[in-house]
Amino acid sequence: MAKKKSTAKKTDKMVYYFGKTKTDGKGDMKMLLGGKGANLAEMTSIGLPVPAGFTITTECCAAYYKNKRKFPTGLLADCEKAVKLLEKETGKKFGSNSNPLLLSVRSGAAVSMPGMMNTILNLGLNDEAVVGMANMSGNERFAYDSYRRLINMYGDVVLEVPHHAFEAEFDKIKASEGVHEDNDVSIQGLIKLCAEYKKVVKKHAGIDFPQDPMEQLALAIEAVFASWMIDKAVIYRRIEGIIGLAGTAVNVQTMVFGNMGDDCGTGVAFTRNPATGQNKFYGEFLINAQGEDVVAGIRTPQPVAEMPKWKAPNNKTVGKEAHATLMKIKTTLEKHYKDVQDIEFTIEQGKLYMLQTRNGKRTGAAAVKIACDMVKEKLISEKEAVKRIPAGDLTQLLLPSFDPAAKKSAKPLTIGLPASPGAAFGKPAFSAEEAVDRTHAGEQVILVRKETSPEDVDGMHNAAGILTSTGGMTSHAAVVARGWGKCCVAGAGEVHINEKGKKFTVNGKTFGVNDVISIDGSTGEVFSGEIASVEPKLSGDFATVMKWADKYRKLDVRTNADSPADAKRARQFGAQGIGLCRTEHMFFEGDRITAMREMILAENVADREAALKKLLPYQRKDFVGIFTAMKNLPVTVRLLDPPLHEFLPHDAKSQNELAKILGVKPATVKSRVSQLHEMNPMLGHRGCRLSITYPEILVMQVTAIVEATIVCKKKKVNAQPEIMIPLVGTKQELAQLRALAEETIENVKKAKKYTGKLDITIGTMIEIPRAALTADEVAEEADFFSFGTNDLTQLTFGYSRDDVNGFLPDYINNEILERDPFQSLDTTGVGQLVEMAVAKGRKAKKGLKCGICGEHGGDPASVFFCHEVGLNYVSCSPFRVPIARLAAAQAALS
Ligand code: PEP
Ligand code: MG
Repeated sequence: MAKKKSTAKKTDKMVYYFGKTKTDGKGDMKMLLGGKGANLAEMTSIGLPVPAGFTITTECCAAYYKNKRKFPTGLLADCEKAVKLLEKETGKKFGSNSNPLLLSVRSGAAVSMPGMMNTILNLGLNDEAVVGMANMSGNERFAYDSYRRLINMYGDVVLEVPHHAFEAEFDKIKASEGVHEDNDVSIQGLIKLCAEYKKVVKKHAGIDFPQDPMEQLALAIEAVFASWMIDKAVIYRRIEGIIGLAGTAVNVQTMVFGNMGDDCGTGVAFTRNPATGQNKFYGEFLINAQGEDVVAGIRTPQPVAEMPKWKAPNNKTVGKEAHATLMKIKTTLEKHYKDVQDIEFTIEQGKLYMLQTRNGKRTGAAAVKIACDMVKEKLISEKEAVKRIPAGDLTQLLLPSFDPAAKKSAKPLTIGLPASPGAAFGKPAFSAEEAVDRTHAGEQVILVRKETSPEDVDGMHNAAGILTSTGGMTSHAAVVARGWGKCCVAGAGEVHINEKGKKFTVNGKTFGVNDVISIDGSTGEVFSGEIASVEPKLSGDFATVMKWADKYRKLDVRTNADSPADAKRARQFGAQGIGLCRTEHMFFEGDRITAMREMILAENVADREAALKKLLPYQRKDFVGIFTAMKNLPVTVRLLDPPLHEFLPHDAKSQNELAKILGVKPATVKSRVSQLHEMNPMLGHRGCRLSITYPEILVMQVTAIVEATIVCKKKKVNAQPEIMIPLVGTKQELAQLRALAEETIENVKKAKKYTGKLDITIGTMIEIPRAALTADEVAEEADFFSFGTNDLTQLTFGYSRDDVNGFLPDYINNEILERDPFQSLDTTGVGQLVEMAVAKGRKAKKGLKCGICGEHGGDPASVFFCHEVGLNYVSCSPFRVPIARLAAAQAALS
C-alpha cells in the first residue's frame, strides 16, 4: 500500500462505481466524472457490455492540486472498497497467482483531450500474478508480454524512467536470440526481459517495481492527476480554449484483452463518417492487438466493413458476430445519445466489450449533413439540429480547403494566426506590385509581407493568399482578406522576410520567388510545396440549416462590404443589408489614389474642393453599384476614417513620381507627408476629426451618397443608405457633422430638383469609450448606433490593434487573457461599455437601432453576447454571414 500522506479536505463522493452490482454515475455528469467516466456509467446503465470499473472524480484532481499534490483523505480507502467490489463481481482477485484481476487506469477530463494525458494498462501484474495470468489464459507468452508492457509503461509514465533504457534491454535480448521483431522473442526471453526491466526501474527510479497492486494503483492514479498539468496538456487546453475545468477524472476499469489470440481484437469507430457525415459505420480494427496499437499506427488496421470475413481457427464466426454486435450497438448508441459516437471496443475471445464512447468530432460539412439526416430520421428536432452545429465550422463549407488526406502527410513549416480561412498555394511575391504583375503574367502567387498597408490592396486582391510576419487578427490584412474570403495567415513571427533579396526564411529553410508554398488560413499553418485543395459544395443540407436558423434567430445579420461584388456575395449568403461600407477602400484603385493624394496635399479649401470634385463621380458610381446590389436593404456608409498619411507615398521614388503627376516640387510632397506624420496616427487626425477640419470631405461624400440614391430611385431601385459618422467621442462632434450632412442632403435634393422622400438616416459609430460613457447625450444626435468594437477594444484595453501580436501570446500563455480580445469580444470589460451604451442610448431615444460592425460581429461567442444585450443586428464579412446567422439562432435557442 502506498504510504501517501492524505491531509487534503475530503470532498463529497469521490469514487463512482459502474458495473452489474450498481452504477453510481450518469451521462450528464461530465463535469464531475469526465467525458469518459460519465459515458462508461451511461453505457453500463443502458445495458451495453462495459467491463466494470470505477471513476475518481475531477474534484479529487482539483483537491490534489489545491493541497500541494496530496490525495484527498479517504480516497485510497474508497478505491480499495471499489476494487473489492470489482473482485466480487468478476470473481477475480487483485494480485492473485491463480486468477488475477488486472486494471486499466485512464485519464478523462470533461472535454476530451486525446492523447494528452496518461494511461496505464495491465495494472495488477506482479511476479505472482503473471504466473496466475499465464495459467488462467493458458498463454504464457501473453502473460509475460503483458507484464513487460506494464513495467515499461509504468516506468515511463509513473516513475519517469527514460524510455530508451527499456529499449536497450529489449534490443540486447533480441540480439542474443538473433531475432528482429518483438513478437519473435521466445517466452524465456520475455521472462528474462521482465527481470531486466525491473532492474532498469531500480536503477533509474531508485525503487523496486512495486509488487503490491494497491500501491501500483495509488501511484498510477497520482500519475494521471499529475498529467493534467504536463506541458502538452496545458498547451492543448490553451490552443483549444478549454477553460473552467476542475481537472481530470481517473477511470479504473477491469482489463479485457484484445491481444490474447486470433479470436481477439480491438478497434475504434465512428457511427457515421466524420469527414462527410454519410450514415455509414466507419471504423478500423486489428486482430490480436491492444487498443494502443491501433492509435499508435504500429500495424495497419482493417476497415470494420471487412470484419465479417474474420475467422479464427477456434471460432469461425468471430468476425460475423462481432460485426453484428457492433451494428446493434451503433443503433442503440445513436438512439440514446442522439448524436454520432466515436467508440473504442475490444473483442476478447469472441466477446465484444465497449471501452469508450463520446460524441464524434466531425468536419463542418459532416456536422451539417448529420444534423439534417438526424432530423429526417426523427432522432432530433430542428432546434436541436441548429444548436448542435458549431457555427464557426460553417466556414469550412464556404471556402476551398486543403484535402485532408493531402495535408495529413505534410508537416507545417510554422504556424501563424488563422486570419482569414481558406486554403491557397503559390509562389511568394514580396511586394504588392510584384503580386499584381506576376498574377497578370499568369502565375499564382502568395503575397508575403512583413505587414500590409492599404496601399497593398491591389496586390492582396490579386494574390491567391496572403502571409504576413506581423499583425493581428484585426490588422488590415486580416480584415480585408476576410472580407474577400481570401486566405490569409498573419503574424507568422518565425517568417523572416528579406524583401529586397526576394526571399524569406523560416526555421532554417529559405524560399524564393520560384518556391511554392501553401497556407491554411483556417489553422494558420504554412507548408512547403503545393497541397491539393477541394472546392466547397453548398449542399441542400446547408440551405436547410440556414432556413432553420433564420426561423429562430432574433438578430439581423448584415455584412461589411465595400464593393458591389462583395455585396452580392454577402446577399447570397443571406446578408440583410450592409452594416459597414468602409469608403476609404474605394480611394486606392487606379486614378482615384492620385486625386485623393491631390486632395490631401492641397494647401487651401479651393484646391481641396477641386480634387474632391474629381473623386465625386467615382464615389457616386461606387454607391450606385452597392445600393443596387443591396436594393431594398439598408446600406450603412461610413464616412472617411483613416488618418490621411495612410494614403500618401512614403519613399522618395514614389514621392517624386507623385510630384511629377501633380506638377509640384518633390520637396512640396515631402514636406506635406512629414507634416501629416503623427506619433500615434490611430489616436490622431482620423474619423470625424477629418470632417471637422475639412468639412468639404464630408460634403463630397454625402453628395455622392445622395446623388447615387437619386440615380437609383429614378431607376426604381430602392436604395436605403444610412450615413455613419466614425470615431465620435462627444455629442458636439456629431451635432456639427450631422447638421452639415443634413444641409448637404437638402442642397443636393434642390440641385437635382428631387422632390421625393429619401429617408437617409444619420447615425454614429460607438468606438471611443467616451462615446459609450455619454451614449445618452450622443443618442440625441444619432438615428442609430453601430459599435465599432475593433477600436473600442483597442481604446478600452489601450492595446494597439496593429501591434498587439507582439505581446499577446505572452498574455495568453500566462493566462492573463483567455483569448485574443480582438477576435472574441471581451464581454466583461468592452462588453460592459456596449451594454451600458445600448441602455443609455435607448433611454434617451426609445427603440434606438443598435448594431455591431467590428470584427466581433462574425464571432459566434460575440454574437451570443450581442443577442443577450439586445442589439438589433450584427455585421460581419461576407463569408461569416452564415456563421453569424447560425450563431444568432443558437443564442436565441439557448
Ligand atoms: C471598428 O473600429 O470596430 C470598425 C468597424 O472600424 P475600423 O475597423 O474600420 O476601424
Ligand atoms: Mg474603427
